[in-house]
Amino acid sequence: MSGGFVFNEKPIQIESGEGPYLYADDGTEYLDMGANYAVTPLGHSHPKVTEAIQQQAEKLTYVQASYPVEVRTELYEKLAALAPGDLENVWLCNSGTEANEAAMKFARASTGNSKIVATKRSFHGRTMGALAMTWKQKYKAPYEPLAGDIEFVTYGDSEELADAVDDETAAVFLEPVQGEGGIHPATVEYLEHARDVTEDAGAALVFDEIQTGMGRTGTLWACEQAGVVPDMLTTAKGIANGLPMGATLCADWLTEDFGDHGSTFSGGPVPCAAANATLDVLVEEDLPGHAGDLGSYLMENIQAASEEHDLPVRDVRGQGLMVGIEVKRGANRLLKHLALNHGILALPAGRSVLRLLPPLVVDESHADRMTDALTEVLQ
Ligand SMILES: *Cc1c(COP(=O)(O)O)cnc(C)c1O
Repeated sequence: MSGGFVFNEKPIQIESGEGPYLYADDGTEYLDMGANYAVTPLGHSHPKVTEAIQQQAEKLTYVQASYPVEVRTELYEKLAALAPGDLENVWLCNSGTEANEAAMKFARASTGNSKIVATKRSFHGRTMGALAMTWKQKYKAPYEPLAGDIEFVTYGDSEELADAVDDETAAVFLEPVQGEGGIHPATVEYLEHARDVTEDAGAALVFDEIQTGMGRTGTLWACEQAGVVPDMLTTAKGIANGLPMGATLCADWLTEDFGDHGSTFSGGPVPCAAANATLDVLVEEDLPGHAGDLGSYLMENIQAASEEHDLPVRDVRGQGLMVGIEVKRGANRLLKHLALNHGILALPAGRSVLRLLPPLVVDESHADRMTDALTEVLQ
């Protein structure tokens, strides 16, 4: 037998999906409380997204991005209108890591500097530049040397950040809530401070909203809750509800002298159609607002269950439907138990954190099922 080799395959063969559910080939139903890494905010195979994909595929599957097409122009305009502040310039690509690579390049070209400041526990992707800004040694060590001139600071420590940023800094990259690193929300003060020090140094502040964006934390972009507008914002994962797409939203000053950048599949019509439909449904149904409310409900209930049943839980934290449950035992064994005995798929974030990133269409009944299953598994 030969075939794929990178992924450790799971013992479940998924055949179809609908809303928050996935169905295996033997008919078993799974509640997908990870939205398969936050990629399906509207739930699996949402009919409006499917219809948009079908219609666009019939009309035009591909034309290179230097030919304007209506569906891409519509997405540029939509993202510009929904962007925080004045981040109206949109670069489209095919993944999160590419959105961050572009942001690194734009920052370097526009400032003439090379140093990037990133944070410990960060995750920014797996190509040689984005990987260099990622903290975990396990992801980096076999591939070194990576892109150089990266300085890591402790996430949340304003003083360390101020010390690291100087007039040789091209950019500071921050996740408003660290995802892979264990679900750690930044304080408003920290994000404000990051805004101040980058502005003083003439460096670009980049928010990596690849996991926090698309309404997950209670607003379309997490930075809206802090009232802080970065110079660039990167998004991907849920933007096209399952089709590959990433975007870098930029302030004007980063588009004047950005060098020469491009990608063959940038803004392909089919992913653009999917992204337009995804954004329309998110906004029309106020799914970000729902995510904020339901996230609070879910976290409060897990916390209450933990106290009532004296569960081995160290901490329940998060923002909206980006929830981390830090446990006293290995998270992976619990995840297996949840999947095989309770039909619930969730995610790890490191060894000791269970991570929930459900589709934003889940309701209280799904949250209750999650809390009950977790209580049983932890007892
Ligand atoms: C997933 C993720 C990325 C990388 O995105 P890919 O599409 O896997 O390349 C970057 N940053 C954050 C915060 C992520 O969650």
